Amino acid sequence: MTASAKSHPRITQISAWRVELPLHEGSYKWSGGNQVTVFDSTVVAVETDAGVTGYGEVCPLGPAYLPAYAAGARAGIKELAPALIGQDPTALGALNRRMDQAMRGHPYVKSALDMACWDITGKIAGLPVATLLGGAHGDSFRLYRAISQESAKQMAGRVGDYRKEGYSKFQLKVGGDPDTDIERIKACAEKLKPGDVLIADANTGWLMHQATRVVDAVKDVDVYIEQPCPSYEECRAIRERTQRPFILDEVIDGVGMVLRAAQDRAADVVNLKISKVGGLTKARQIRDLCQSLGLAMIIEDTWGGDIVTAAIAHLAHSTAPEFLFAATDFNSYVTRPIAVGAPKRREGTLAASAASGLGVVPLMDALGEPVLRIG
Ligand code: MG
Repeated sequence: MTASAKSHPRITQISAWRVELPLHEGSYKWSGGNQVTVFDSTVVAVETDAGVTGYGEVCPLGPAYLPAYAAGARAGIKELAPALIGQDPTALGALNRRMDQAMRGHPYVKSALDMACWDITGKIAGLPVATLLGGAHGDSFRLYRAISQESAKQMAGRVGDYRKEGYSKFQLKVGGDPDTDIERIKACAEKLKPGDVLIADANTGWLMHQATRVVDAVKDVDVYIEQPCPSYEECRAIRERTQRPFILDEVIDGVGMVLRAAQDRAADVVNLKISKVGGLTKARQIRDLCQSLGLAMIIEDTWGGDIVTAAIAHLAHSTAPEFLFAATDFNSYVTRPIAVGAPKRREGTLAASAASGLGVVPLMDALGEPVLRIG
């Protein structure tokens, strides 16, 4: 290790690229008639005076999923980047404090910047990010597969297709007409094999009377219910009306909501998305808190390509297996590789890279010209 790496490195330049990520299946549909055909992702490079560059990525699930949108990520990074020039990227706590002081809220804007600084820290330490996050457990971890909202028959067919790809955990996109959703859940449940896991994710799409009808109709089906209604209070009311295991996602946006849900016994599993909470630093805090509270997690992000998938892998692989309910390999959903070194799904499992940092090297040709460069 060089002397300059051991002294405090400083951020010298921050660049961002816009990259389009089309889907193998053409589109991804969820509640409320929402769909995305081409994901709009933002890749960030953070350069340092130590000769080390870190990479991050953020990709909102369109503008209608969470209070986040792709152009907003880039506008926010442009606004925030000047406050980070000259800072030590390996002082991750101080860096996050500075981001929070310079810009209130907007966690998704900070996510790719924080991710890139974890990449730098790992590269300088000569260790994979998973090691810095507590160390990898075992050789790999299991993934789940989201099933885009289609007819009951089509979705049930997908269960078999994805099982052939090695998945054994399936997350159905419901949150539409309750009768159709009941049909979807039952049709998919019929395709399950012993050991399979089925989740019905309404993505806030039901009103309480609709959610009540669905959970009642599937009371004898082995299915998890995820985020049936928009608000925490509505979800909690539905939770009290069902014996099905319960997952909260959209409302779990930080430590406060995790504590509240744990106190209220409002969820059996929480869905932890890196950009929803503002990056790996905050996601790790929530991950560790969930482990202490006895709450299982789905670890993923709002979407992304190779760099987001690498970051998910480091966080998921360093999570105790009994607490990791599932994780997502977004880079196998999209057609375009944007980096080499990212983990690739094998028999429904993924493993974090053993290389230092995130272990990814962006394909600069795939990224094209940067849309911003500061510093
Ligand atoms: Mg969800």
